Amino acid sequence: MEKEPAEVQGVVAQGGGGATIYKITSDKGVHYTRTLVIAAGAGAFAARKLPLKEAGALENRGVYYACKSKSVFSDKKVMIAGGGDSAVDWALNLRETAFGGDGSGITLIHRRNQFRAHEDSVRRLQATKASILTFWEIEGLEAHDGGHLKAVRIKNSQTKETKTVEVDALLVQFGYISSLGAMENWPISIEKKKAIVVNRLMETELPGVFAVGDVAAYEGKLKLIATGFGEVATAVNFAKTRIDPHAKMFPGHSSEMTGDSSVTI
Ligand SMILES: Cc1cc2nc3c(=O)[nH]c(=O)nc-3n(C[C@H](O)[C@H](O)[C@H](O)COP(=O)(O)OP(=O)(O)OC[C@H]3O[C@@H](n4cnc5c(N)ncnc54)[C@H](O)[C@@H]3O)c2cc1C
Repeated sequence: MEKEPAEVQGVVAQGGGGATIYKITSDKGVHYTRTLVIAAGAGAFAARKLPLKEAGALENRGVYYACKSKSVFSDKKVMIAGGGDSAVDWALNLRETAFGGDGSGITLIHRRNQFRAHEDSVRRLQATKASILTFWEIEGLEAHDGGHLKAVRIKNSQTKETKTVEVDALLVQFGYISSLGAMENWPISIEKKKAIVVNRLMETELPGVFAVGDVAAYEGKLKLIATGFGEVATAVNFAKTRIDPHAKMFPGHSSEMTGDSSVTI
């Protein structure tokens, strides 16, 4: 079974100066280290949820924010909410799994009549038997006595018409909210709540704690994969000299050639 990655929640400095040890707390346990490289990108992502008070109790009881297994939607009447690639791709992806097996069990609901999704995906969905409702928004959810989703009340933003659609499952694809979360409370400078300020060694205000990639902020920063690779090399080399002050800061080569002993870099 695939392991869920640990989410780092806290960093606490213990001791001081060159002897500082960092206590890293995650939802999976505690780890101690003298150096740390933070590569948290835009931070942790959480699905944007339905802003309805009844939605919480129905989560995983008919209301879903992700498709972890297509079998959850097997032979079900499925409403998918959203207008981006995720919504349209899941509508296409689940059309054979859902009720009917031909798209007729899928209803895609979107508050506008334009999709942000790839045009070709929208065209392919329009060619199926899926019902595509534009200018409609979710107003409320109804549950069976057993506390499972029974129907979705929707409203047309243009005509103000309302109706109730009976469904077995609602897959909400409103995108994700990213946040540095607990990192915002760490004793390091965070720029505009989005990125960790570093110096030219990629080191934060905490000695031995480095930040690289999209989460690292400095003047002229380019958020690109190539930039991140270079930043990691810088951070790791300076982290090494912190652990071992006798280590060479510039290692001279980044790779070992194998199979041809006459070539050295
Ligand atoms: C649509 C789009 C297109 C792009 N196209 C290009 C391109 O063509 N070329 C290019 O060079 N760049 C491109 N980029 C930029 C590139 O994707 C990023 O620069 C790069 O992915 C940054 O890598 P990263 O490792 O810093 O962050 P990420 O790839 O975001 O990885 C961060 C990881 O940290 C994890 N994480 C966050 N918080 C925690 C926590 N508290 N505990 C544990 N784990 C945590 C996250 O779950 C994630 O797995 C694109 C970006 C976007 C959004």
